[in-house]
Amino acid sequence: MRPPDAILDERALSGPEAAERLAASSVLMIGAGGLGSPALAWLAAAGVGRFTIADGDVVDISNLQRQVLFETADIGRPKARAAWDRLRRSHPEAQIASLQKRLGPDDLAELASRHDVILDGSDNIATKLLANDAAVLSGKPLVYGGILRWSGQLTVVAPGSPCLRCLFPEPEGAAPMNCAEAGVIGALGGVVGSLMALAAARLLCGIPPGLEGVLLIVDALRAAPRRFEFARDPDCPLCGSHPAITRLRYSGGAQPACAAP
Ligand SMILES: [Zn+2]
Repeated sequence: MRPPDAILDERALSGPEAAERLAASSVLMIGAGGLGSPALAWLAAAGVGRFTIADGDVVDISNLQRQVLFETADIGRPKARAAWDRLRRSHPEAQIASLQKRLGPDDLAELASRHDVILDGSDNIATKLLANDAAVLSGKPLVYGGILRWSGQLTVVAPGSPCLRCLFPEPEGAAPMNCAEAGVIGALGGVVGSLMALAAARLLCGIPPGLEGVLLIVDALRAAPRRFEFARDPDCPLCGSHPAITRLRYSGGAQPACAAP
């Protein structure tokens, strides 16, 4: 890792060394929706060399309000494939794989090992916890994002930092939120997705994002971000002193804010 003062050196993210590092890097994008669309667009434009895009949904007309990789002609097409098409047209030099499925434990265990950074823009708690567990167990950094109504969330789980299970420790059974009913602000997905891309680019360039152990809350009503610092929970079942989770499997947990599909 670079020293902290490199955070203030813009050349670290825009110079030739950064370009080389990004071109040699790989990103696993879970979800190509309201967060995945802007995150993928920015990371492809930044010159990241290899992507895997996983999404099990198809494009719906209601998605076009916020999922900016898609256009009217994509309605009914698998999102992973439509995103692949769009990014291949704009960035033909990138290696892009698409998976038209919701990732399970076996998928994530294998994919986490083959990518440098995991971005979670999924729309369900089971996948978010799996992504968290895959990151911790594989030692790969995770950029987590979520949006609901006027509020967005962002954090980074990196080796040695607290994880999502430290942040959301309540047991299974917490009331789930229905993103489709609650609604989301399209541009808020653009803000949080772009911040996810920035955090990922920093990780890929060896610059700590400053979001490890920090939940950044983007409140679109107050037009002001807030930082909520959290520490590792020694009783965390994943990264605590006596972990109960030692391999990937579906499991419960509290409900972080979600990203509408
Ligand atoms: Zn933890």
